[in-house]
This record gives sequence, C-alpha cells and structure tokens, in this order.
Amino acid sequence: MTWAEPSSTATALLLLGRGTDPDTEKGVECPGDLPAPSDPGLVERARAAKAALGDRVFVLGHHYQRDEVIQFADVTGDSFKLAREAAARPDAEYIVFCGVHFMAESADILTSATQRVVLPDLAAGCSMADMAALVQVEKAWEHFTRLGIAGDVVPVTYMNSTADIKGFVGRNDGVVCTSSNAETALKWSFERGSKVFFLPDQHLGRNTAVLKMGLTLQDCVLYDPHKPGGGLTDQQLLDAKMILWRGHCSVHGRFTLDSVEDVRARVPGVNVLVHPECKHEVVTAADHVGSTEYIIRMIEAAPAGSAWAVGTELNLVRRLALAHPDKQIMFLDKNVCYCSTMNRIDLPHLVWALEELVAGRVPNEITVDADTAHYARVALDRMLALP
Ligand code: SF4
Repeated sequence: MTWAEPSSTATALLLLGRGTDPDTEKGVECPGDLPAPSDPGLVERARAAKAALGDRVFVLGHHYQRDEVIQFADVTGDSFKLAREAAARPDAEYIVFCGVHFMAESADILTSATQRVVLPDLAAGCSMADMAALVQVEKAWEHFTRLGIAGDVVPVTYMNSTADIKGFVGRNDGVVCTSSNAETALKWSFERGSKVFFLPDQHLGRNTAVLKMGLTLQDCVLYDPHKPGGGLTDQQLLDAKMILWRGHCSVHGRFTLDSVEDVRARVPGVNVLVHPECKHEVVTAADHVGSTEYIIRMIEAAPAGSAWAVGTELNLVRRLALAHPDKQIMFLDKNVCYCSTMNRIDLPHLVWALEELVAGRVPNEITVDADTAHYARVALDRMLALP
C-alpha cells in the first residue's frame, strides 16, 4: 500500500523550520558555523565525524526523530530505553541525544559522571514537560500539606518531565513511570497511599486510572496550577483518588473523536491504534492503546492486508508505513502532526554537534545538579524495581 502524506498547514510548515518565529527561537545556541540545510555534503560530513570519534561517541535517536537524523543513530527507542542504552555504554565519552531536553537530562542522571551528554539543539524542549515547573508543583504540595492530605498522597511522574520534577517525586517517596508501566506504578502507589498525584500528563494518568485500575472519572480531579487552589475545592481534593496535573502532549492531544469516526467511515475494518497520551474520549474509541514500543510491535505483528490508523507522532507513523508496504498504515489525523521540538534536531545541528566534538569542544552539554540528580535517580530506581 502507498503512504498518503497528511496535508500540511501553514503552522506545521513553520514548526518544521521553514520560517522563523522569534518567540520559539529562544535558547538556540550554535556558536560557530551551523551548516546550511542545503549543503549537499551533510551526510558525508556526519559520517566522517562519527567515524573520527569512533567508540568515543554514542548517538541515540528517539522514534519521533526525522529520518535524516535517525540514519545516524546507534540505537533507536523511546526515552527510557535510550537512557538505559546510554547507561549501558560506560565507555562512550559523549552521548549525543537526538531527542528532547528531558530525555538528555535522564541520560545524564543515569550515566556516569565522566560521560558527557550533548543535545544538538537546546531549543528541543518538550511542551508537556514544561507544563510542570518545580515552583508550581511545590506550591500544590504545600496546599496538600495544609489540607492534611500530603501524607496520603503518592506523587508519580511520567518519564516526560524535567529532572526537577523527578527529583521532587524522589524526595517525596514517589516513583517515575513510562507509558508502558504506568499501571504497575499506580498499583505500587495505591499500596502506599490512598491518593496519587500524577504529573505532568493528565491523559496518561486518567486513561491508566480509569481503563486499567477501575477508577471512575469522578475519582479523578484536574489540578490547574494557573488557578487559585488548583481550581478545586478542599472537598474535591479530599474526595479525589487521582489528582491529575493539568499538562498534556501537544502532539497526541491533537487527535479527536472526530478523527477516529472519520477514519472508520472512510476505511471499513480499520484498526485504530493510539498512544495513551491521547484524550480519554479518543482512547476509549480506539481499538488498541499502548506506548510507542507497543505501537511498533502491533504493526510488526499485524497480518498483511490489514488496515491501521495510528495516533502518534508523524515521523514514526511514516517510517512504519514505509517499512510495512504489505499493510495499509495511515495517520489518524488529516493534517500533519509532528513534534515540533523533536524536529528541531535536524542534520545540520547533528553535523555541527559531531564536528564540535571532533574539534575537542563539547557543545550544548546537558547537566543536572548533584542534589536533583540524586533524588531523580531515587525515583527512577524505584521504577526499575517495580515488579
Ligand atoms: S511528542 Fe509530546 S511528550 Fe513527546 S516530546 Fe513532543 S511534546 Fe513532548
């Protein structure tokens, strides 16, 4: 089957770097010469720089990265798999993380003190992770303390959060989770407290609580850090079992119930496969729900001729479609839906970062302070010890 590219929008094209937006260019730091995207020698330059560095460099590529970058990854995977892969390579002096900022932080936390983690473009952040700032989360926790419930609340943070938030969770007897083990993490938490404070993705928290743990939507409340008291009454907080932080993924949050109904009408027999960062109404209307790794495995195992509408980042869906031409694989939304920050890492930035390393300079190094790293590691180790 042929891959049909979703239609582009002016915004999407801008997000892909085909224009400039001064408000989103903050933090871009490329001292020296960033090669032009049109440079025909980029692929050769990346190859040469990697070869010159040899085993001293290890390049990690998240599943949502562009093809032009993924071709140079020594390993591909989701954020947690990549951090573990980095930790399993103690001989690699430099870890070049083709992903976003919180992933590079996790790699720094899990690797040794001598390994240096490089993010080719510092503007590659994550809008979801940025929705939970430490100062806001600490304010909410003080609120729980005043209300007398903090002792009953176990904080759980999704891997897609800053090191600060992972550190907060580690300090307060909580745990990190991924989209693969969120159910196990919630079971662990409810054995230790009567309430869970789930950060920063409301959708993963709600979907796991309701669809896997048997809680009701009424058991879940939404804590909005921009409203006094989180926008909740004391009684709502006292009654709640899941206190969900008001954060979401701007990529997965775009899929709607309409997109599910539309594809079902257009493609009879289609299987709808979505990520649990999608809205509850989308997840409940889908046939299959799971992490990025789960989505890849489902498509690999699907019979030839079957049809799949996939609700996750477009780079990954396109790669799956091209890798499985015997199956009909389409994007769940009609419009393009890239992770704009992931797409910040392009071939010119990768070439620049590698060539800087060859020249003996370490560009865009990501470091987490020792205290935060210690407690974040505590929360990550608790996750690793989950059954
Ligand atoms: S896909 Fe969503 S959660 Fe992942 S990096 Fe992009 S904005 Fe963050």
